[in-house]
Amino acid sequence: MRESQLFFKTQKDFPKDEVAINAQLLLRANFIEKLMAGVYSYLPLGYRVREKIIRIIEEEMNALGAAEILMPALHPRSVWDATKRWETMGKIMYQFKDHSGREVGLGPTHEEVMAVIGKTVIDSYADLPRAVYQIQTKYRDEPRAKSGVLRGREFTMKDLYSFHTDEASLAEFYEEAKKAYTKVFTRAGLKAYATEASGGDFTKEYSHEFMVETNAGEDEMMLCRLCGFAQNTEISKLKSGTQCPKCQSGVLDKVTSVEVGNIFKLGTKFSEPVGFTYKNQEGRSMPVVMGSYGIGIERLLGTIVEVHHDDKGIVWPEAVAPFKAHLLRIGEATPELQRLSEETYHALQKSGVEVLFDDRERASSGEKFFDADLIGIPWRIVVSEKTLVREKVELKRRNEQEVKVITLNACIKSLTL
Ligand code: ATP
Ligand code: MG
Repeated sequence: MRESQLFFKTQKDFPKDEVAINAQLLLRANFIEKLMAGVYSYLPLGYRVREKIIRIIEEEMNALGAAEILMPALHPRSVWDATKRWETMGKIMYQFKDHSGREVGLGPTHEEVMAVIGKTVIDSYADLPRAVYQIQTKYRDEPRAKSGVLRGREFTMKDLYSFHTDEASLAEFYEEAKKAYTKVFTRAGLKAYATEASGGDFTKEYSHEFMVETNAGEDEMMLCRLCGFAQNTEISKLKSGTQCPKCQSGVLDKVTSVEVGNIFKLGTKFSEPVGFTYKNQEGRSMPVVMGSYGIGIERLLGTIVEVHHDDKGIVWPEAVAPFKAHLLRIGEATPELQRLSEETYHALQKSGVEVLFDDRERASSGEKFFDADLIGIPWRIVVSEKTLVREKVELKRRNEQEVKVITLNACIKSLTL
């Protein structure tokens, strides 16, 4: 894609109330635009990253055997009354009357709606287990939306729901979901610890929060770096500096973290109130046993920025980068340099390299280098008068200092390995 045609412009100023690094960098690099506190647009670069994250999640959810669906954001009060959550969700849920006076709300989550839909599909034990997921917009009137895209008032969640005949079947799926989650976060360039946390009012057992270590987070965990044992400090009775109860050799550290995903055993909490049942082998009606599993798409995106940046800008892990390579045409655009840069651009595209071509006429060399570092595409390729005379290009990784002067063929080879 040509930068001269991209709907995009790096920003010198950003809203002063944005204190989070993720928001500052994403705004400056124009991946996002802020409409109001906690509500952001995704411009072309941000959109591409978001899409890459979504593809990774979809692949891992499909591999789990879950099927993708889409539920609505606008819900009638009645669905939420069944579990009394219309009242108990409190101020976090946007609730209002439409013009005919009907009470409706914007979904902060979908357990109730899911259970209602489940009733139409699942009749008997032969229909179980099943799992479905969606990638869908959630609305939450978060009291303090100060963490940039980590805490939006409108955000996208991947929410997965599983349905089972009994707790044993749920436990089995839960472990598979845990593995799939670890794969998602690893592929996205993050180390996420499956942290024991309160089951909330869903279950007496622990739930698991996937926590990434970063000062930008709003959570705290007790962590053993040796074996990865982690507990949310909200429930942990363990003290910093003491021995890890799991591996017995590591020492626990109190660490600030962000929750990028979580998994819950819901049991029959949502199925019972709406009469979501199946017939067992004896023909008796039993409540369906459920699990729910969430990942915040933009929270994941923002966390990647919090973890992968330096003083010049973002340093995207390759799997989620908006492009793989950033081609810069540096110096006066003489006919020869234009021809060479166009040739390089087309050769890269032909080899299947996702490339952003900084062909802007009016940007100075300094601006191009500055913007490239800020945007954080993993590989930078420079063509200039200097490289032209040697019939070479310059190749540099965003996270390394070394600049290689190599032929275009060698460059393409290292990018398509
Ligand atoms: P938190 O404690 O951080 O508010 P939560 O416990 O409310 O999170 P869930 O309701 O379980 O989160 O939602 C599932 C996932 O959705 C979370 O793990 C997180 O990744 C994401 N998420 C939750 N709230 C937000 C938000 N306001 N903005 C962006 N992502 C969110
Ligand atoms: Mg919350």
